[in-house]
Amino acid sequence: MNGHWRKPLLTATLIVFSALVLWPIAGATAASLAAATAFGLLLVHHLHNLSEFHQWLLAPKLENLPNGSGKWEQLFSYLARMMRRQGQIEAQLQEALTRFQKAGAALPEAVVILDNDNRIDWCNPKAEAYFGLDLDRDRGQQVTSLMRQPQFVEYLRQTDFSLPLNLRVSPAGIGDATLSIQMVPYGDRETLLLGRDITRWERLEITRRDFVANVSHELRTPLTVLNGFLETLSDMERPDPEMTARSLLLMSQQCVRMNRLVEDLLTLSRLESSVAPLREETVNVPELVQHLYQDALSLSNGKHEIHLKLADRACVRANADEVRSAFGNLVSNAIRYTPEGGRIELQWTLRGDEGMFSVTDTGIGIEMHHIDRLTERFYRVDRSRSRETGGTGLGLAIVKHVLSRHQAHLEIVSEPGEGSIFSAVFPADRMEAAPVAARPSQAVAVS
Ligand code: ADP
Repeated sequence: MNGHWRKPLLTATLIVFSALVLWPIAGATAASLAAATAFGLLLVHHLHNLSEFHQWLLAPKLENLPNGSGKWEQLFSYLARMMRRQGQIEAQLQEALTRFQKAGAALPEAVVILDNDNRIDWCNPKAEAYFGLDLDRDRGQQVTSLMRQPQFVEYLRQTDFSLPLNLRVSPAGIGDATLSIQMVPYGDRETLLLGRDITRWERLEITRRDFVANVSHELRTPLTVLNGFLETLSDMERPDPEMTARSLLLMSQQCVRMNRLVEDLLTLSRLESSVAPLREETVNVPELVQHLYQDALSLSNGKHEIHLKLADRACVRANADEVRSAFGNLVSNAIRYTPEGGRIELQWTLRGDEGMFSVTDTGIGIEMHHIDRLTERFYRVDRSRSRETGGTGLGLAIVKHVLSRHQAHLEIVSEPGEGSIFSAVFPADRMEAAPVAARPSQAVAVS
């Protein structure tokens, strides 16, 4: 028999048995009255507990649970145990939910959970930022009534989500961005909408495509020239020696041009892909600039007035080859973009605690709106002048890379028709005192 029935039945049996015992002693009326009173008291006891239970059910809190008496006490303590266990499970669920929400908030991707009718169930802060959503306000709203771009609406309508959708968005405070949208169906026709910011990747892809197009374009011209000469020469039955010599000279010039381009490309690629730490040494900049001055004299071949001003003997902690290549590019540009008779000055000086190598020329100068773009690969103000003078369009890109690897930067001041000043500025913590033996009493100026 069920344990719960045993005790009430025992009590009832006891009452009936007591009444039966009382019957011969006190008579039938007294026995019945005693039994009725006992059953009445039992009923009152149950009704009292039931009423307390009912009262408690109106505001069921663990701390208000009545103590109960008799069988009810057992029942209420069982209920209290159940509520405590329930409370623990709820706390664990709440903790898991909080952890999930924290993980969702920390995700670098925008995440939106959609129900089987594409209504927003939940989203993380990244999704709020990128899609302009507000979880408190938009929960339960159709996602397409908030994200209305036609491509997105169309994408959501189809059922095959194997390919992601690239979606342009303009979230306030973030600016234009491109998101790769991916729908992941799960559970009971619910869907996870994921948005990954691919703006940087897209920009890199455009840069890479432009770069390949630029390199191909740069190589096409010399290759066309070479091809043309080779065809002409091979078509000639009796080659004219003078023309052959001239063709060979022009062909060799094109080869030099291609060689220069390949060398600059390799230098750039080395600078960009170099993960190894910079090989640094104490670079005696005054000595290095002195050599560059000699190179400039032979490069100019007497066409310019070239000056050297070493206002300080300070050295720089740097990679000598890279610094030589960067400074050399600035000097060669000054010569190439300064017409005959112009003046060029190479200067090494201290500006406060910073070291500054500047090349000042009285050349063609550059209009203001070009200046920010000069260090872009293949950016040229005057394409034909750059090519005529053997430029690859990569010189200043190399300079910028070298300087940024040394936490240094390039400053450009220029005036069209007046000239330019290109300065490589090194931070104070890269500066080193001149070796004692090399310290002259005065600055050096050579003309
Ligand atoms: P390039 O090989 O074409 O000279 P660079 O990257 O060295 O390429 O320079 C980019 C562009 O900057 C040049 O094409 C030129 O238009 C401009 N430029 C660089 N240096 C000077 C200068 N000293 N004077 C005038 N223009 C310059």
